[in-house]
Amino acid sequence: MLSTTAASLRALETARQCAMLGAHHRTISFITSLTPGYIARAVYCRQYPAPIGRPQYSEDFLFKTSRRLQAEASLLAAHYRRLTGDGFLPADALITAYRHHRTTHPSSELGFDQAFFTVSRLDGIWAAGKSVLSFVECLNCHSSYLAAHGMAKRDNCPVCRTDWQAPSRRRTAANAPRSAPAPPVPPRPEHDEPWQLDLDIAHVRLVRRLEQLGAGHRVCAVLAGEHWTNLFRASRGRPTVTCAHLSRPMPLDHWSAKTEVTHRVQYAIFAAHFRRLVQLDLTPVEAICTAIEEMRKACHGYPKPVSFDRCFEIAALLESLWGVPTRQFDLVRCLECDSHHLVSKAETRPMGCPFCMLIRRHRVLLPTPEAAGANPS
Ligand SMILES: [Zn+2]
Ligand SMILES: [Zn+2]
Repeated sequence: MLSTTAASLRALETARQCAMLGAHHRTISFITSLTPGYIARAVYCRQYPAPIGRPQYSEDFLFKTSRRLQAEASLLAAHYRRLTGDGFLPADALITAYRHHRTTHPSSELGFDQAFFTVSRLDGIWAAGKSVLSFVECLNCHSSYLAAHGMAKRDNCPVCRTDWQAPSRRRTAANAPRSAPAPPVPPRPEHDEPWQLDLDIAHVRLVRRLEQLGAGHRVCAVLAGEHWTNLFRASRGRPTVTCAHLSRPMPLDHWSAKTEVTHRVQYAIFAAHFRRLVQLDLTPVEAICTAIEEMRKACHGYPKPVSFDRCFEIAALLESLWGVPTRQFDLVRCLECDSHHLVSKAETRPMGCPFCMLIRRHRVLLPTPEAAGANPS
């Protein structure tokens, strides 16, 4: 299972970019540190299949290839260097520079793996143990081009010696090499099966959101659809085994009496938002997260905020979700204040509207407006 740290989300998103740019398995492994098994299983898809063969890591690529490719690699590396100089991380700088290169040189033959290997050798990272390349400034065109360390400045700048107008030699050959960049890909057709990597990225994002909202690990597992959800059982004494009762269940037969008024206010606000969002066709998981955010905004500063897991239980009992067989709560409108609050169906004599009770309590606890007006501070 993937962990949900920021690092893992970053690795997945980086792997996604690399796969779309045609990176080899090994290249993605170097850049992201994802395991080979995971890359093989999830990173490629029908639309972005794994490239065949070995990645083009060639130590003398820069010195044996065409002048045009040397020039392109130098331009890309210079762009990469500007980005890392601006604080970009190497992976982001490489991906951005490569994308830029493909836009500015649409007929380029420079593959992503070659670009990767070039900047590896420039910075001594990833596939290279140490830095063996550096920039030399051309005295003629003032571009920076790549050369082996310690090479004297000579007049062999590939940038100004390339005929940029001429069509690429290899491009015009009958059999275009497989390193040729793929043409822009149209949006994925709907019948395509989902990309495992996209599912994993969405999953990691969801788990992080749940954790940030304070979901306990069991509720988190249920909402994120973890396969080990089935390990959870209801607490002892519950007649049914449901996902919704992962902790000590709420006393539904005395719910309003045993629940604090300020908690009932929060549950009521949560439940009203939750029901509205579910009716808007949000998934129950999205609806829970958004309803909790809305409720916390409305109840900002409450000294005793209700927990995420209790809200999950309220949602399950209100709409009979996550294994709850029937609805256990009604959302009832108060005739006095017009707001909605929760009433447990199992309770014979529920207490009144918590909003009205709050107002009443404030009337008792706080000085009356007259008294406050008589003693201005
Ligand atoms: Zn030059
Ligand atoms: Zn009321």
